[in-house]
Amino acid sequence: MGGSPRDPGPRRIDFHSHSYLTDGTTSATDMWFEAEVLQHRALALTDHVGLEDPRPLLDQLRREASGWDGSPFVPIVGVELTKVPARRIADTARACRKAGAEIVIVHGETTVENVPAGTNHAAIDSGSVDVLAHPGLLDPRDAELAKDHDVVLEISARVGHSLTNGHVARVAIEAGAELVVDSDAHGPEQLVPLEQALRIARGAGLADDRVERALFTTPAALVRRLRGR
Ligand SMILES: [Zn+2]
Ligand SMILES: [Zn+2]
Repeated sequence: MGGSPRDPGPRRIDFHSHSYLTDGTTSATDMWFEAEVLQHRALALTDHVGLEDPRPLLDQLRREASGWDGSPFVPIVGVELTKVPARRIADTARACRKAGAEIVIVHGETTVENVPAGTNHAAIDSGSVDVLAHPGLLDPRDAELAKDHDVVLEISARVGHSLTNGHVARVAIEAGAELVVDSDAHGPEQLVPLEQALRIARGAGLADDRVERALFTTPAALVRRLRGR
């Protein structure tokens, strides 16, 4: 993945991270700055939201993102719906979108925490969610629904959430659903450089063509979709 200084080659795109506006350790500005230093093309800040008004959080993130106006680096402003009752995921996701979220991801049914039952299905079925984060023991029928609804499924670099990466990769590929590799970084030291993301994708069992798709093709298409709407 080399390239001359004029052609930096494929860049890392990450759709999931946190700032101290929720449970991260530093500012969104610092996260975006460090991602740029790590040669990322784009990083989404997706701080946790529940049923509260998401506007103060999103307004703050948007203000910080404006620091990159005119820059090739893409700071994506978003939310991670976290432990919202499954029946409220669709309307909450829509409210976040209306309040200015460029990306809406959902804290999926990881095997290392209690998450409301039905979260994976409700997120995929909502029509307003872009990425289902760390979906744990994802039901193959929900993976098929994810393909139909263009919901991207996440391979997670985060300790604990990553335990089911192999399962998520397998059911996603069998269903024809798209995958991305996200850091879920809660601080700059947890951002994932490209070489490490490649190892995580291979470690989840992805063959070379699928690694390419999860790290470059799908993320680039998702950035276009987020910025185009
Ligand atoms: Zn999460
Ligand atoms: Zn997260």
